[in-house]
Amino acid sequence: MKQLRHLTPLFLAIFLSSTISIVAQNRTVLAEAERISGDKFGFVVRTPMGAAVYGVKRPSAKVLAAVDSGLTDLFAIGRKNKYKKRLSYSDYTIYIANADRTKNIDGNYSPDIAVDAAQYAGSIYDKGGYIYASGMIVALNPCAFLIAEHTKEFTRISEVVRYEGEHLVLYHNDRQRYSETADHSKGGGHPILN
Ligand SMILES: [Zn+2]
Repeated sequence: MKQLRHLTPLFLAIFLSSTISIVAQNRTVLAEAERISGDKFGFVVRTPMGAAVYGVKRPSAKVLAAVDSGLTDLFAIGRKNKYKKRLSYSDYTIYIANADRTKNIDGNYSPDIAVDAAQYAGSIYDKGGYIYASGMIVALNPCAFLIAEHTKEFTRISEVVRYEGEHLVLYHNDRQRYSETADHSKGGGHPILN
């Protein structure tokens, strides 16, 4: 506590309460990620660039590098579109859930998570109350999303990170465009930003 010695008690109280609220906020998001995926995230690490990654297993260096690469692409395209908010690695939390399938309907490698159909019920995506998704937003603020665990083809991780991140960058920088592109059951996919 040596470095806090010069802080006034009031400042210290504010500092501690905001730290506690961030912890509470993160716990709420973690609980939501666990509810959506049905998984328990026993590991949390930072990527070399500073994003938080939760995993059912300990995420490998290759996975973390792929996450950073996807965020780098996202921030570049965000800046190109004159967006300024939430373009820092530390703004993002990524949950890596167990894949509920590893091949898509065409037989290609595609680790996906099964999530409640919700607004996709009755659409072409509906597999009987659930849909397969490569990624899923967990929280808009703080920025958090789920992806499925990959055992190969890690560039796919970069792509999913960039694509899910698009929704979050739009939410914080262009609310109208966010609303127009958030729900893929009405058509439209990724990339949204070019
Ligand atoms: Zn999307």
